[in-house]
Amino acid sequence: MRDFESENGVMLFAGVPVTDLADAFGTPVYVTDEQRIRENYRRIRDAFSAHMETAVHYACKANTNLAILSILNQEGSGIDAVSAGEVAACIRAGIPPERIMYTGVNVSDAELKAVTDMEVMINIDSESGLERLAAINRDLPVSFRITPDVGSGHSDKVVTGRRGSKFGIPMDRVVKTYLRARDLGFDIRGIHAHIGSGGQAVEPFTDMAGIMADTVNRLQDKGIDLDFIDIGGGIGVPYRMNEEEMDLEELAFDVTEIILEETDVRKLIVEPGRYIVCDSTVLLTRCVDVKDAGTKRYIGVDAGFNTLARPAMYDAYHYVAIGNRFGKAATAKYDVAGPICESGDILARDRALPKPEEGDVVVVYDAGAYGFSMSSNYNSRPLCAEVLVNDGEAELIREHEAPEDLWRNQIVPERLRR
Ligand SMILES: *Cc1c(COP(=O)(O)O)cnc(C)c1O
Repeated sequence: MRDFESENGVMLFAGVPVTDLADAFGTPVYVTDEQRIRENYRRIRDAFSAHMETAVHYACKANTNLAILSILNQEGSGIDAVSAGEVAACIRAGIPPERIMYTGVNVSDAELKAVTDMEVMINIDSESGLERLAAINRDLPVSFRITPDVGSGHSDKVVTGRRGSKFGIPMDRVVKTYLRARDLGFDIRGIHAHIGSGGQAVEPFTDMAGIMADTVNRLQDKGIDLDFIDIGGGIGVPYRMNEEEMDLEELAFDVTEIILEETDVRKLIVEPGRYIVCDSTVLLTRCVDVKDAGTKRYIGVDAGFNTLARPAMYDAYHYVAIGNRFGKAATAKYDVAGPICESGDILARDRALPKPEEGDVVVVYDAGAYGFSMSSNYNSRPLCAEVLVNDGEAELIREHEAPEDLWRNQIVPERLRR
């Protein structure tokens, strides 16, 4: 978790008072610090590149705003995309197709066709996918996603690598699948695994690297040489005050040591999503109502799980502060609740905060990953704006949706209009 400075009791975000940002752009609004994205990208690239050639592929489902993709394009980042829409967005942001890898699960033929038409490398997730891709296009380089039987994640809902998972090719089928791909004439480049999202321990990664190294060697024995090992993403970040961080140096050292010592593969791919964007962004939401409900006190705000789904969906913790009472002593515990008509619409529970008033700007920390990208129109609430701050200047990078956007694609049959 980051520390922020303040001026006259107002929190500064990338040098700009959060109250100014809320006044200028309205609330709720996601505000991103451009430099932080660049720093995070460089830190992870440098940690791994110190040991072996490494390509960082930003897992863009964490946040696909075109401006954010453009920042990463300037940095030279590659991309992990999980849908045709994500591939298209990345190409739209100027990222060359050869730096994009598509890793889908339960991929339809239509989607296989769409991504091969955009000429990106495909990470094949199943034997069925291999056969179906063979009928569509065999000319692009491919890799395979395996299920390494190692899992990690902040919630069971985001663990992906365990045996029995819906993701990847089960271990006992992996060699067979590669051999089949060779028979089909595919240009086989690598091996991929992704164990889950938001783990903080190094060990699952080294367990996975060991299993991948072993698999690479078994494939080599069959005459299949791979160019790269892709260890996926899932590097956790601290959401709580004083929570320990993943030891990136240790992770990079341990994983690359296994690959360099146990295999002939000399290229690594890592696919961090959360790590790159999570702490680059805060969600600003206005306090609109303060309520003492007897057993609880509420700070009612204008962002709900339509804006930030993680607390309701994963019981995720996000630190919150009152941006215009920054550093003030707490007076009581509050739940921060949104405008959605469901009792689960609570952004934060039992937080010691200074006495709030309507009009205060509540700052939700670490909202850059799976924040905007998971937001919805539930309760017919337009999607909120996104803002980028750089060098003390704030710019709009997504307009707040208008009410007509809510019904733009709907059709009322003529007979119902009479
Ligand atoms: C989601 C995903 C990632 C990124 O996960 P993070 O936890 O955000 O780092 C990487 N690779 C694949 C295949 C994914 O689906």
